[in-house]
Amino acid sequence: MTGEIKNKLEKISKILSESGIEVYSAKELKSYLYDETPPSLGLKPTENVLITKPRNTNEVSKIMKIASRERIPVFVRGGGTGLSGGAVPTAEGLILSTEKMKKMEIDVENFCAVCGAGITLRELIMNAEASGLSFSPHPGDETATVGGMVSTNAGGVRAMKYGVMRNYVLGLEAVLPNGDIIKLGGKLIKNNAGYNMMHLLIGSEGTLAVVTEVVLRLLPPFRKTATIAVPFKTIEGAIEAVVEILRNGTIPLALEYIEREALEIGEKVSGKRWPPKDEANLMVIIEGRNEDELVEVAEKIEEICIGKGASNAFIALGYKEQRDLLEVRSLIYEGMKEKVIEVLDVSVPPAQIPEYVKRCNSVAEKMGFKVVNYGHAGDGNIHQHPLKTEGWEEKYEELKKTFFRIARELGGSITGEHGVGIVKKKDLKEHLSKAEYELLQKIKRAFDPDGILNPGKVVDL
Ligand SMILES: Cc1cc2nc3c(=O)[nH]c(=O)nc-3n(C[C@H](O)[C@H](O)[C@H](O)COP(=O)(O)OP(=O)(O)OC[C@H]3O[C@@H](n4cnc5c(N)ncnc54)[C@H](O)[C@@H]3O)c2cc1C
Repeated sequence: MTGEIKNKLEKISKILSESGIEVYSAKELKSYLYDETPPSLGLKPTENVLITKPRNTNEVSKIMKIASRERIPVFVRGGGTGLSGGAVPTAEGLILSTEKMKKMEIDVENFCAVCGAGITLRELIMNAEASGLSFSPHPGDETATVGGMVSTNAGGVRAMKYGVMRNYVLGLEAVLPNGDIIKLGGKLIKNNAGYNMMHLLIGSEGTLAVVTEVVLRLLPPFRKTATIAVPFKTIEGAIEAVVEILRNGTIPLALEYIEREALEIGEKVSGKRWPPKDEANLMVIIEGRNEDELVEVAEKIEEICIGKGASNAFIALGYKEQRDLLEVRSLIYEGMKEKVIEVLDVSVPPAQIPEYVKRCNSVAEKMGFKVVNYGHAGDGNIHQHPLKTEGWEEKYEELKKTFFRIARELGGSITGEHGVGIVKKKDLKEHLSKAEYELLQKIKRAFDPDGILNPGKVVDL
């Protein structure tokens, strides 16, 4: 650690500890240096950091005031489930963990929850359900926090029907890099007062402000569900069926595309069996008032899929059968984590998925890569998992760049869910026009002129 920063951190540690804020060294909490970004990418966190655990907005403000005065970088950390290195410290400074910010209030009459940034998705779901309501967005890992989900604008399998985090945030409280506290929106459905800074902060990946409290929209409880597993020989058949299902007027809760190899991995990790599968598979989850309605819609979906080349469809109505299917799907990443180079989450117009996947697979094959694909077919957000192969380190950058170029040619985006963080920072600069990138830089400077909040992520000053 450089002498000057070491002295500053020692001083800060003393001030914070004296105010009752917990402070730890990275040696004590080593796992706080990492998130869930695949280790193959070799992110090297800076180990010379202190970890602080403020309990409320005023304590966050205090930390930011000191950090701003001392020009010390601050890295906000929620659940550490991010897949782009967003919470990984890139410079000597402070990690600000929100885990002790556990305010939780359900306002049944206004259909909303007021949550501290550190409330986990699991805690939010449990509290909402205990009050007879539901929370819709569901990124795959329930240890993600409200602050992290807002800051990455998380999606998940239900985004197909219910949208992403952005559609659920009614109000935000945040602390600016200089320590000022701002309150945006509230328990409001409508608010047109000035530029919408709340939506600017959503998805800003901890680079503009620390989100301390969030008002989230809740909905009535979910209805009964059925899960349909459909095997197709080709991706074209599967995606044509997706389009037809939507055209038919059914908006499923989830519409997932999963390749055979991915399912086999999920089966192995979960110990559960998937019904008959083929090269390209769909998992469709539908909602209905009762079993009769579910069966009627499921049979219509089966008919559509068979019309598009599926051999059959397996309809699960019971809780356990559905839970088993979901478990196979949810554990795919766990099963391939060690072999995966990166989890790419390109988003393309949904009907372009077959062209995107085919062009990428063809490039990958020529370059000697194997890519396992699955993801949110209904909203065009495909998750590609290039696997490690001999000499991949030399060739991977080119593969990724080619995938992003193909996505751009099809009108897509380089990330539909996981954000930019460290791992797509260079790519973002290439993806945006010069004018767009410069605007991002100006926005970053307006919020954080000294570049102390999450430096090295998303955009350079
Ligand atoms: C198995 C698995 C499945 C996943 N599935 C999905 C999925 O389906 N859809 C999806 O969108 N994502 C998914 N993710 C990614 C991840 O769960 C989400 O990005 C999640 O929103 C991150 O929340 P977190 O609390 O863990 O944030 P962290 O990883 O701690 O941080 C993520 C970013 O947000 C910033 N941040 C965190 N808290 C705050 C705050 N209070 N204020 C300001 N900035 C903050 C951090 O600085 C960082 O840049 C998955 C991850 C895993 C491991």
